[in-house]
Amino acid sequence: MRTVEKALALASRGRLYPSVILYGGDAAGRQQTALDFARTLLCAAADEASRGCDAEAPDACRHCRRIRWRDRGQDRFHPDFRVLERDLRTATSVEATKAFLQTAWSAPFEAAAQVFVIAEADTLSGGAADALLKLLEEPPARTPRHFLLLAASQLDLLPTLRSRSLALFLGQKEQLPQEEVEAVAAALARSLDVHFQTPSPIFLFGAAAALGEATGWDDPRARRPWAVGSAAVLRYLAAGGELTTERRRALLRLAQELLDGPLLRMRGISHGRILEGLVCRFIPPDSFRP
Ligand SMILES: [Zn+2]
Repeated sequence: MRTVEKALALASRGRLYPSVILYGGDAAGRQQTALDFARTLLCAAADEASRGCDAEAPDACRHCRRIRWRDRGQDRFHPDFRVLERDLRTATSVEATKAFLQTAWSAPFEAAAQVFVIAEADTLSGGAADALLKLLEEPPARTPRHFLLLAASQLDLLPTLRSRSLALFLGQKEQLPQEEVEAVAAALARSLDVHFQTPSPIFLFGAAAALGEATGWDDPRARRPWAVGSAAVLRYLAAGGELTTERRRALLRLAQELLDGPLLRMRGISHGRILEGLVCRFIPPDSFRP
């Protein structure tokens, strides 16, 4: 059984994790999967196995037939299925997100639960993601609230959101630009190889600058350059000549921590400073003398 089907089976028994990330595939596929989950979660069927009606079927239940992506017909919408779409050109604003989440403080109107869909969770502004996190950490009431976060790639979601959600992959693998990863890994090797021979802060700053050769730093919310840096460190490790266990561990931790770079960046620190800080923290200038 596919992971998505397992999760739908959990949903039919009311056992789904409160926050689910649906990523990969195309936008239409993500929207359809969100509808499948919402119908399974809110369905009126008493029998668990038959929860989640085909909305077009004549015998679809009163909930499922009105769970629609957009309010196309005036008579067909469900008040407990709500979708937040991107309101700005490239972002989902904190104001729109807070207004959207406000509904989670009231009881469901008709169904036994509520489903909140964030159509492009990768466009949530920092403040918007924080508002959502707060709600996930301190659920306002006993009634089940389900959050479905849709994104092309989970790399573009805040690590804190990822750590509090069940991530379900819907389609082809996330592609990092392999040529870019190779180029950054090669630049990294030029500095780290020397540093491991003759430790010096100069080579560590060189390693940080190498990671900074990834592209896409202009958008402070972008996760991709951090993911490229992380992949380049792993690439260096995989190619890596004779590294001691400590060095391997240090590089693995660096690769992991790089993925959290956007969090620091949202505090207003430049990516260059963050890269230098992380590299110098995990690869101390003089602790790897043979
Ligand atoms: Zn139904």
